[in-house]
Amino acid sequence: MAYDFDLFVIGGGSGGIAAARRAAEYGAKVGLAEAGRLGGTCVNRGCVPKKLMVYASHFPDQFEAAAGYGWTVGEHHFDWPTLIKALDTEVTRLNSIYGSMLDKSSVQLFPHYARFVDEHTLEVGDQKITAEKILIAVGGKPVKPDVPGIEHTITSDDIFHLPQQPKRVVILGGGYIGSEFACILNGLGTEVVQVIRGDKILRGFDEELRTEIQNAITQQGITVMTHCELIAIHKTETGVDITIATPDKQEHILADAVSLAATGRRPNIQGLGLEHTGIETHHGAIVVDEHHRTAVPHIFAVGDVTDRVNLTPVAIKEGRIFADTEFGNKPGLMSHAIVPTAVFTTPEMGTVGMTEEQAKAKYGEENIKIYRSRFRPMYYTIPGMEARTLMKLIVHQPTDKVLGAHMVGDYAAEIIQGVAIAVQMGATKADFDATIAIHPSSAEEFVTMR
Ligand code: FAD
Repeated sequence: MAYDFDLFVIGGGSGGIAAARRAAEYGAKVGLAEAGRLGGTCVNRGCVPKKLMVYASHFPDQFEAAAGYGWTVGEHHFDWPTLIKALDTEVTRLNSIYGSMLDKSSVQLFPHYARFVDEHTLEVGDQKITAEKILIAVGGKPVKPDVPGIEHTITSDDIFHLPQQPKRVVILGGGYIGSEFACILNGLGTEVVQVIRGDKILRGFDEELRTEIQNAITQQGITVMTHCELIAIHKTETGVDITIATPDKQEHILADAVSLAATGRRPNIQGLGLEHTGIETHHGAIVVDEHHRTAVPHIFAVGDVTDRVNLTPVAIKEGRIFADTEFGNKPGLMSHAIVPTAVFTTPEMGTVGMTEEQAKAKYGEENIKIYRSRFRPMYYTIPGMEARTLMKLIVHQPTDKVLGAHMVGDYAAEIIQGVAIAVQMGATKADFDATIAIHPSSAEEFVTMR
């Protein structure tokens, strides 16, 4: 049977665009449906606008440091609408770059929602389109907990469009998105209360790093309320009244009308018509094998919709490996074992490989040696600022292999990206030690730890 397309991609985000372009480069006839703005979560309501907001939030510290270095810093104040407008302009610029990239790769764009009619046919807008292979790359979306009054909260998707800066905000959730927005808003001058269920933010990351960041953000003025359960939210004349249960009592926190529910995300599969296919799901995520193949052999899925490692570079790599394998005759496998990542809190975290807890659980405490360095970076000495950097290497003693490298401090993401190459290659502590330091830098600590 002749199909309209060799490959049809549903979703023009990180994974979908990467796969579509790569497959088209191999000569495949490719179509792509995107219901919203091109670039997906990362470009429109994730990594990109968030990182720009992180930059904006760092200026108060930079003004403070500048004074220590002899600069007279004039009066300054922050204007939220100016930032929001600038973000939108930048995101729009990126949307059009993605559009022309698809054009140049001869991927045919359908600016519509797509849903399955059968296993080879999609309804895209008002057209029926058939494809030999279909890739689902529809990403995820925020979920709010099911508590009374939750409709009075916003999600991370909404924050980039708020017309006014909230004066006082409650952030529900201690994951990386909630923690990043706590720091962004705090840096921009909003009073922030972060309400979390556990004893510490950033569950799943190295314990020592979590503690370091939680202590730092608390010192910066963010109130972190631990062991809390959200009970209800009531609208008041001036904002919202949030009822939470702590282990021994119920408390009310008052905030602006705006409070951020950063309590998790789920794959975007509602309305996709999966019931017309044999695709299997588990906890709402599409189940795929190591080749990103669903239970239907010619339908594949990559990125957040599979809920494996939900990060942009992972979605992109999965998409490209899928295209290389299916259209480029270059079969490849994606490894999710060593995925470097960053958390753009202030201070920032960069991390690759095993945490101390994971390494000890896997190899036994006696086989793991921890190297660490904690110091005040040179930059902060003259202005007398209290910021600290923590660096940590997790080493497997019997083989000397570096299993994990972690950092909290300025440029952690930039530094860990380089270190990740060594960890990925299986470098030993002796390899780190044999590397000449770059002096003076913070990064040199990674090759001088004893
Ligand atoms: P997406 O990028 O979400 O793309 C899916 C696309 O499919 C969307 O554009 C959607 O409109 C479209 N779509 C959905 N259903 C349909 C349909 N039926 N028909 C047509 N189109 C459809 N990752 C990082 O690596 N670093 C970060 O710093 C980072 N920060 C983040 C901050 C926030 C606030 C959030 C929410 C996420 C962040 N992420 C970050 C995660 C990252 O954005 C995602 O992992 C990544 O975007 C996933 O790519 P994807 O291709 O799977 O899906």
